Amino acid sequence: MRKVRTLYESKGGVIMGYAFMTSRCGMCGSTFTYHPNYVPSLNNVPFCRRCVESANIIRVQQGLTPHSIHPRAYDIANEEELA
Ligand SMILES: [Zn+2]
Repeated sequence: MRKVRTLYESKGGVIMGYAFMTSRCGMCGSTFTYHPNYVPSLNNVPFCRRCVESANIIRVQQGLTPHSIHPRAYDIANEEELA
């Protein structure tokens, strides 16, 4: 099957898609944007940066290891990462 190209593609451009994933935080309920592959979550419930950082302060005070936050945890995702 022949792929139909857009005018933009026919002039050498590349079309990429991006995904903005948003959910309510499992702790505070605020809506936030995140990368589904990297956001800290528990049972597929994501947590916002503010809540994870707050929890980490308490964890450190209790002598526990803080949860790591991936550098892209709250970024948008491009289409290739979600395929
Ligand atoms: Zn939160």
